[in-house]
Amino acid sequence: MKSGKINVKTENIFPIIKKFLYSDHDIFLRELISNAVDATQKLNTLVKSGVAQVDISDTTIEVVVNTKDKTLRVLDKGIGMTEDEVLKYINQIAFSSAEEFLEKYKGTDAANLIGHFGLGFYSAFMVAKEVEIITKSYIEETPAVRWVCDGSPQYKMEQHDRKEHGTEIILHISDEDEQFLDEFRIVDLLKKYCRFLPVPIRCGNEKYWDKPEGEEKSVEMERPRIVNNTNPLWKQAPSGLTQDDYLKFYRELYPMSFDEPLFQIHLNVDYPFNLTGILYFPKVKNQLEMQKNKVQLYCNQVFITDQLEGIIPEFMQLLHGVIDSPDIPLNVSRSYLQSDAAVKKISTHITKKVADKLEEMFKNNREDFEQKWDDIKVFIQYGAVTDNKFYDRAKSFYLLKNIENKYFTFDEYKTHVEALQKDKAGNLIYLYAADVDAQHVYISAAKERGYDVLCFDGFLDTHFINMLEQNMEKTRFTRVDADVIDKLIEKDEVQISKLSEEETKKLKEIFENSVEKEKFTVKVESLNETDLPIMLTRNEFMRRYQDMERLSGQKSFYAAFDHYTLVVNGNHELATHLLNETDTEKQANLTQQLIDLALLSQNLLTGEKLSEFVKRSIEIMK
Ligand code: ADP
Repeated sequence: MKSGKINVKTENIFPIIKKFLYSDHDIFLRELISNAVDATQKLNTLVKSGVAQVDISDTTIEVVVNTKDKTLRVLDKGIGMTEDEVLKYINQIAFSSAEEFLEKYKGTDAANLIGHFGLGFYSAFMVAKEVEIITKSYIEETPAVRWVCDGSPQYKMEQHDRKEHGTEIILHISDEDEQFLDEFRIVDLLKKYCRFLPVPIRCGNEKYWDKPEGEEKSVEMERPRIVNNTNPLWKQAPSGLTQDDYLKFYRELYPMSFDEPLFQIHLNVDYPFNLTGILYFPKVKNQLEMQKNKVQLYCNQVFITDQLEGIIPEFMQLLHGVIDSPDIPLNVSRSYLQSDAAVKKISTHITKKVADKLEEMFKNNREDFEQKWDDIKVFIQYGAVTDNKFYDRAKSFYLLKNIENKYFTFDEYKTHVEALQKDKAGNLIYLYAADVDAQHVYISAAKERGYDVLCFDGFLDTHFINMLEQNMEKTRFTRVDADVIDKLIEKDEVQISKLSEEETKKLKEIFENSVEKEKFTVKVESLNETDLPIMLTRNEFMRRYQDMERLSGQKSFYAAFDHYTLVVNGNHELATHLLNETDTEKQANLTQQLIDLALLSQNLLTGEKLSEFVKRSIEIMK
């Protein structure tokens, strides 16, 4: 037996490790399993290159919970260590990196940072009061060794009679961490971090470890089981995969999700960096469906995080799936990841790939692309609004949908409306409706002039329209109910008024006396005789501000300006009729009736006002 002191400056490092890493205790398991996988793969490489001659037909890593002894053991059949290697790797190198870490972060408020800073082997001391290593190198003649350390810099080392190559790490779990003696908890952790590791991992309770199959049911339930998929889909060649394979893998990733993705991109890059992965496009129609934290980041199949804020662009976080790259540093903090150059390159690259895929789909099968459009529109709008480069790419495949459900690219739409929808200043005016049923009156007016009306009913539309106006020359968007149609697209034609100036003034007064002044502005316009006698319009820009406020959940500042314009058609026969009415009661009734009709067409007539309207209408019919 040999004993010694690990060469450290800090007298007792382990209590500090415990304290510092408290928030993310469970990381220790990922670290130990990663080491076991590394050791296994190193041996595989040696065997394949003929350097070592040992049996590697079964490389399963075992994770064994022993509730009686209060131990958790991790066993691998990997390369193992000689005595010298233990001294070098465990006592010196690993320890000094643990120490360096503590030096760096001692005294800083870096608790959340630390969770992502792997401490490798020594993170075991977060949950164990004593750790044993029993290891035997693959090199035949070297004896096995047993190393023990109780959390002080003192360690003991002795020869051991283990015959098989590989390493066993025994954690004597501390009293306050007994949660790690629950095999279901351990299985959960393994499923979180190790679900797609390339070496099989079996986990279970010591009690049932060697029980033959087919015993009573309770044993069946608790039988040690393989917890990982060693050959996840993203590592396979896309050419050999079917759509069904992708769907199955999606369900494996998100067993709780009932939605099916629309399509996916299989990433497979080896230059200028290494990257594999699958990104799925979910259906996103409303705010509730904008679920983030669904993309999982892996480094060589080891789960790193699904919190990707600042790591990939915001809109890309709406996608689902997996990104795996050995170039992503594993044991670092989030802030480090965010500023890492390799991570930035990866992020730019996948955004480009997504744009490529969308463009390709649009070009190859426009019909199919149109069918998917309503479900991917929000994603593309989000991207276009937040990322200039993505907007530049999206210009070629973004689709504008009109109320007849026809889809146009920007260029196509321009050609479609150019002839009729230019105003006298030469601006192209794009008309849109947010609710085809509710805005029917206004849509009909536009249709009568031969204008086209777009459909903008999504919750990001207002933001998107603002962005488009800033980027498109001499083009404005306006909702059909923002003004009377001939004001929305003003032409050179002069309006001829049937009323004298005097009569116009009087007509205005009649209406002003019947509405709340703070809410309504009355305007008399000389419209066509066949146009409606009265209309309620709502200023485009005020409405947009309100829409945006609502979306961002702000307390409404502009809501106070919930203001409408009551447009009276001076050329309509009812205007003349109203002016000529000498019975003041009849005149007041007719005025109110017209106002109510205008309110009704904007869905604003409710409650008592609506009852009065119904009563008055019946009276008039009598
Ligand atoms: P890292 O894995 O980042 O190098 P660790 O502290 O986890 O740091 O491990 C230090 C070293 O100890 C490893 O690089 C490896 O050489 C050795 N080691 C740890 N675990 C094992 C194992 N299960 N089998 C063989 N060698 C191991």
